[in-house]
Amino acid sequence: MGKVPHIINAIEFNRNLIDAVLDRAAKIKCAFKNNSWITCDPIAQQRMHMLEGRTMMLLFDQPSLRTYGLFTTAMRALGGNVDGWQNFSRDTSISKGESLQDTGRVISHYPGVSVLVIRHPDDRAAVSLARYSSVPVINAGSKLEHPTQALKDLFTIREELRKIDNLHVVVTGDLTGRAVRSFLCALSYCNSIRVSLISPPRLRLELPRDVKSFLESRGIQVMENVRSLANVVKDADVLYVMRPQTENWPVNSRAKVQDRKEALIHYFDHCGVTHQVVENLPAHARVLHPLPRTDELPTYLDEKYGAYVPEPTSQLAFFRQSDNGGPMGIAILEMLHSGEWAELLK
Ligand code: ASP
Repeated sequence: MGKVPHIINAIEFNRNLIDAVLDRAAKIKCAFKNNSWITCDPIAQQRMHMLEGRTMMLLFDQPSLRTYGLFTTAMRALGGNVDGWQNFSRDTSISKGESLQDTGRVISHYPGVSVLVIRHPDDRAAVSLARYSSVPVINAGSKLEHPTQALKDLFTIREELRKIDNLHVVVTGDLTGRAVRSFLCALSYCNSIRVSLISPPRLRLELPRDVKSFLESRGIQVMENVRSLANVVKDADVLYVMRPQTENWPVNSRAKVQDRKEALIHYFDHCGVTHQVVENLPAHARVLHPLPRTDELPTYLDEKYGAYVPEPTSQLAFFRQSDNGGPMGIAILEMLHSGEWAELLK
């Protein structure tokens, strides 16, 4: 069996791959904007049929809006079909004890199946599924990794700032989340990056040690335990905001803060975005958030700082970041199917 390319985690990326997928996504975004995706452009016409007769199988075990939506629409935009399970472990023979390895071997051999997309709380799930799969497996979010979110994030930075090098990136909130890990690991393939981290001091939600060591081994300057968000953003290029990932917080184990409500107040006080924070950002800087958001990025900021502006001109860029998932999803599928992804990983 030839080597099948899989997307399991962001550390596996490299700069050539990142540049290529961002370029591809930019072209696709343009085609949609100019309406040439569905009109007479011959290249667009070819793309619309690229995955005709092919099927994406979605194996989802956790809730998802954006990632599920972007992969299903991307597959259809390329002429393909989608199928699968939204309660994958409950509704398949996994519930009878079937292994993910066997599951991957079986599903990947059905006629026309060309990609498996899995969201599963266990980081080993995508790896096991990929082991005997004859088609690419995409990790659409596991406990620690969310590699396709990271590509969407880098794409957004490039669309907004016209560059992905020479950046001061401030990350605020729950730094244990998978989106942060994958984003920072992907960012480590960029040059001259400085990262400042701020998390609620009493909640032990700092960046995991292994990520910090990885970043430092790649020459990234990491400043941890920043005290004031309003101060540190003054020379930021990107402010990346994370919601409290309360579904992952072990009950009662957060340092001395018994009460969840109190914990959240502490979280939003320390890490939340306020008028002051946005006012202190340089005009060119952008606020990103993988979404969904809660009170760490309050809706009262939306109108004033341009959350609904479609052009990359306003500071609140998180809905545009979400929109960038569409072209990015198509770019990923195109490159996986054309063999380009595998080539770039060699
Ligand atoms: N949507 C992202 C994720 O699936 C971020 C979040 O849920 O906070 O990890």
